[in-house]
Amino acid sequence: MSGACSSVLGYVKRTGVGSTNQKASAESLPSLTPIPLDALSKLVAWFRRGNRVLPWREEPTLYRVWISEIMLQQTQVVTVVPYFERFIAEFPSVEHLARADSESVMKAWAGLGYYSRARNIHQGAKTIAQKGFPKTKEGWLEISGVGPYTAGAITSIALGLPEPIVDGNVERVFARLRILRRSLGDAPYKTSLWWLSGEAVATAHAAGLSPSDLNQAWMELGATVCVPRKPQCGLCPISIDCEALKAGIAELLPEKKKRPEVKILEESRVALVDVIREKVYLEQARTGEWREGLWDFPKAGGEFVGVKRGDEIITKHVVTNHRITRALEVRVVDSESRAVRDYPGRWISMNDPEVGIGSAPKKGIAAIRAGS
Ligand code: SF4
Repeated sequence: MSGACSSVLGYVKRTGVGSTNQKASAESLPSLTPIPLDALSKLVAWFRRGNRVLPWREEPTLYRVWISEIMLQQTQVVTVVPYFERFIAEFPSVEHLARADSESVMKAWAGLGYYSRARNIHQGAKTIAQKGFPKTKEGWLEISGVGPYTAGAITSIALGLPEPIVDGNVERVFARLRILRRSLGDAPYKTSLWWLSGEAVATAHAAGLSPSDLNQAWMELGATVCVPRKPQCGLCPISIDCEALKAGIAELLPEKKKRPEVKILEESRVALVDVIREKVYLEQARTGEWREGLWDFPKAGGEFVGVKRGDEIITKHVVTNHRITRALEVRVVDSESRAVRDYPGRWISMNDPEVGIGSAPKKGIAAIRAGS
């Protein structure tokens, strides 16, 4: 088993983690004690006894684990489950996904948010369909949208490789187990988290414990017991090894990140509505535009020939650190009239928009329907 500070430094040298422009120097690295094998065994036993039944756990193939891990980025399990099931039913293999047109992929993703994930997954499927599934963490890092956490999760869960993982849940558990503070500096903080995870999975693997079970156990502990507010330490299988619990500061960790400044955005759009046929006119955001590939109301200011001005609806929504207020000017139009025949977008059913649309047009359509 490795010692403390010098081993964390060894890890920096070996892996390059923390060696970017925010270099973790030897002096800035904390002295850390790895999580002992006894605690890892208890944690794995706890996970095997009562882990939640989740669709990607039932059949952890590379394809299913990859899709689930991308969906789970920034999104909670309970939201992901129905999307995952629908997505796998529509694209049961990487070949199906690679062959699909981007519109049907965006539609299957619509509502999950962070749409670059859908574009990356589609691009990744095309690469994998040609070259085969990567079998190493380094290979997965070549796939669009896959970073160190996701590559570690896929290779440990689907291939059983002893690769570390650190996401928000795992960070919280380690920060508490070993009283790691963000105020150490970003690089030493992250390096220490990855080192703890790496030590744990290597120790477990050497002792015959499954890296897949261990890494999922960290995720599960963070999601269900070592939760952000009021951790359930009485239910924790490794509470005896928890330094924050001993010091009575579990709820104070992990220290919060500085929040990015909230940006206020105001937008004006035009909703052309065919009330009789219950259709709205939408255009697709072009490559390089914000919300690329998604369908939305056209921007105000364009020439809408043969269409009269109408009422205005205000909708509000929040996307990451943007607070967006949108003024939607509603104009009632006959979608089959000559005046609108040459418009470049599409007339979409308000009841079942068969294209990918984001939360802003969804809110607009709901407001139009409520008022019609
Ligand atoms: S004892 Fe409490 S704070 Fe420590 S790891 Fe367990 S749940 Fe988290």
